[in-house]
Amino acid sequence: MSTAAGKVIKCKAAVAWEPGKPLVIEEIEVAPPQKMEVRLKILFTSLCHTDVYFWEAKAQNSVFPRILGHEAAGIVESIGEGVTELVPGDHVLPVFTGECKECAHCKSEESNMCSLLRINTERGVMIHDEKPRFSINGKPIYHFVGTSTFSEYTVVHVGCVAKINPLAPLDKVCVLSCGISTGLGATLNVAKPTKGSSVAIFGLGAVGLAAAEGARLAGASRIIGVDLNSARFEEAKKFGVTEFVNPKDYDKPVQEVIAEMTDGGVDRSVECTGNINAMISAFECVHDGWGVAVLVGVPHKDSLFKTHPMNVLNERTLKGTFFGNYKPRSDLPSVVEMYMKKELELEKFITHEVPFVEINKAFELMLKGEGLRCLIRME
Ligand code: NAD
Ligand code: ZN
Repeated sequence: MSTAAGKVIKCKAAVAWEPGKPLVIEEIEVAPPQKMEVRLKILFTSLCHTDVYFWEAKAQNSVFPRILGHEAAGIVESIGEGVTELVPGDHVLPVFTGECKECAHCKSEESNMCSLLRINTERGVMIHDEKPRFSINGKPIYHFVGTSTFSEYTVVHVGCVAKINPLAPLDKVCVLSCGISTGLGATLNVAKPTKGSSVAIFGLGAVGLAAAEGARLAGASRIIGVDLNSARFEEAKKFGVTEFVNPKDYDKPVQEVIAEMTDGGVDRSVECTGNINAMISAFECVHDGWGVAVLVGVPHKDSLFKTHPMNVLNERTLKGTFFGNYKPRSDLPSVVEMYMKKELELEKFITHEVPFVEINKAFELMLKGEGLRCLIRME
């Protein structure tokens, strides 16, 4: 046990005081973990577009002041009552959606939507006592998706923590705690393209390129990347994307462009943009009779998906997924092993790196559409 176990820890955190305003590095108090909770020392974190949406809070309901961040890697500092699977010193990845291992979802082979710990973007408190563990001079600071990794220390429910191989480099596997596993799993676990098939990927950010990586691993022969930002295309070649479509270059819907390129439609599509029009196009561009489209992007809260029912009757399937259908505690350790066995490359996703005090630079890069993942070093 660390000497701070059971005591409040004072440390630095990047606090989002108001929507869209730069984060402020503050000294905060982090309370000890309560029943079924663990306190983690975060060593690396990275920025995912979902953090930016809830920071902008233009379209989503939000809670402020808040500590954002959910893609990270760290070490268990101390554990609360009832925690038996983790001990201080374990290397872990926190995950925004949990696995209690007891509910109907956790017991189902098909679902990772745990009833107790599934993603909840509006909750800013711990489920045990409905209180936050963060404060500044006693005033509450709220949590984000149960992880709040933009802090040197955070408190997380034990069900939202995957224990991983202690030999895995935390500055690399950090990106598996959200974006890369999400994209990879969306293809491998949900779209399931067969060898030689065609796959369209909408959105070539880190999540989309991880989905492309999944298509490459599955042996797809055509991987069509769709993005409004043509600057993404050069980078995407490293991820096995074979063709590119910028919807802005055409005066007809992109689903028609793709249908013409592929003799009626792609076998599979994976949407990783969060844009409702891209979601509809991703569905309508799959081949009738067998095509499957998978939605991954987090939509605007008022978005409605509209398509003619005939598109479905014609035997197209629409699916969606959180975290690539991986169960965080049961499945994530084996995704880390894929990296350890060199089946999966993570280095190419990490295009930038900043020290924690410069965390706002990571936001600027994402808003400009530059790079894929920006690693934020806590020390
Ligand atoms: P990113 O911003 O790095 O990449 C998104 C890409 O989509 C950009 O390149 C952008 O130019 C492109 N794009 C936007 N609108 C488009 C359109 N209409 N047509 C084509 N391309 C378009 O973001 P990211 O971190 O890779 O995340 C991608 C999405 O996945 C986000 O919506 C994020 O919230 C979501 N996400 C979902 C899960 C999940 O579990 N379902 C997990 C992580 C992230
Ligand atoms: Zn559960």
